[in-house]
Amino acid sequence: MRYEGIVYRPPSEAYSFIVQVTVGCAHNKCSFCSMYKNKKFRIRNLEEIFADLEEGKTYYSRVDKIFLADGDALCLPTEHLKKILLKIKELFPQCNRVGVYSTPKDILRKSLEDLKELGNLGLGIIYMGLESGSEEILKDINKGVTQEEMIQAGKKVKKSGIPLSLTVISGIGGRENLERHGIETGKVISQINPDFVGLLTLMLEQGTEITSKVNSGEFNLLTPQEVMLETKILLQNTNVTNCIFRSNHASNYVSLKGTLPFDKERIINTIDQILNEGYRYKSEIFRGL
Ligand code: SF4
Repeated sequence: MRYEGIVYRPPSEAYSFIVQVTVGCAHNKCSFCSMYKNKKFRIRNLEEIFADLEEGKTYYSRVDKIFLADGDALCLPTEHLKKILLKIKELFPQCNRVGVYSTPKDILRKSLEDLKELGNLGLGIIYMGLESGSEEILKDINKGVTQEEMIQAGKKVKKSGIPLSLTVISGIGGRENLERHGIETGKVISQINPDFVGLLTLMLEQGTEITSKVNSGEFNLLTPQEVMLETKILLQNTNVTNCIFRSNHASNYVSLKGTLPFDKERIINTIDQILNEGYRYKSEIFRGL
């Protein structure tokens, strides 16, 4: 397999066969993200991608899940993606899910019919980085989309029938925006009503704009207690019908999980207990991305 640079994937794709269909991220401007800073974005040609899939076929006797990397594979032209999904069907008939990262703009550029067609061909999950539901915070972190565009993109995926996973980052607005981030993000999640929410906690990566702001005192990181408070506010403002909530990533100080709305009160009670009775939070040295 010809992987170029470090290849990232969501935690839930840990056992997936990963194939790079793009190199880097077409946006590559988020203030907290260093994942693709050293890669010049390009779409790989179909011959290269097919060659990797065929090589994978010689290594793995059975593949259940495939993840198409890098940062926003849905930016590929629909015809290109369709050919890749058809090739996957031909080589790995037992594969039951193909996943991609996508920016909201990639989703908005596709028609609903295109998304439905991709879903029918096996695109089985879209991971979209919401990060925050606050308009101000989205602007501060250079996400490149408005709150409304986030909502429209999320709703469009839901309408297409493709399962949607949103990623949110605790502390991404800093201490000054703790309440705003919690409330606005909860409201946006409620409007989108995704299938999954993954809540990470902000980690400082070398060379990012947000790290420079922390070093200059312009941005204040949350303490673990403040992260808990922000999570509680977010959950209190989240009204969804059936959503798997996970905050058990390596970056999180505390592991929380459940299905919303059924486990909402239980998770909030756990947070209250942690805040009122004290807790040994995960040490900084054990946090990671
Ligand atoms: S967070 Fe996602 S969209 Fe933003 S630069 Fe990183 S990979 Fe690209």
